[in-house]
Amino acid sequence: MRDGVSDAGKVSRCLSGDRVVSEGAVGFVLRGSFAVFDRNDLACVQLLGPGSTFGWEASLVPEHGPVHLLALLDSEWIELPASIPTQTMGTGWVERVFARHALDRMTALQAASACHAVHAVPQRVANLIRRLSHVSDADVRTTQAALAKAVGVQRTSVNASVKTLERAGALTVWRGRMRVRCRATLSQLACGC
Ligand SMILES: [Zn+2]
Repeated sequence: MRDGVSDAGKVSRCLSGDRVVSEGAVGFVLRGSFAVFDRNDLACVQLLGPGSTFGWEASLVPEHGPVHLLALLDSEWIELPASIPTQTMGTGWVERVFARHALDRMTALQAASACHAVHAVPQRVANLIRRLSHVSDADVRTTQAALAKAVGVQRTSVNASVKTLERAGALTVWRGRMRVRCRATLSQLACGC
């Protein structure tokens, strides 16, 4: 598998706020964070961080369709043709990986649905920033437009939530970057999902 990745893998990079459409490929996130959208590109259904993978469906069902991603941070990932895992490791192995991946995704989807139904927008925005800060350097380099798309609200709502976090001393914003000033305050204001 490692040989397949180094021979056929293609490393790509993108900036925070960029849209990426991945088709017929299995991807491994190396750095940054992506929001994964549903087939109609309406709502964020999963967050990916370093070590996450996407596109296993294409290894089992080639006509499954593209994966729609939105980079929430500057990101780097490696993609390889979806046929490679099956060729190098066999269908049984891919099915096991897929089953594990599907379970993780189902659990994450259930948590996200419950969060959307119960938690208020400011709590969800704070939570997303908290999660992004775990995979960022000192500053979270993201855009409020990308956060709004990932949370599924208007940009003005994200803007108001971020201002509240600034007033509370949780973070400072400048030039499209957020610096977490007090992790405890940020966690207190976040829903924690
Ligand atoms: Zn929540």
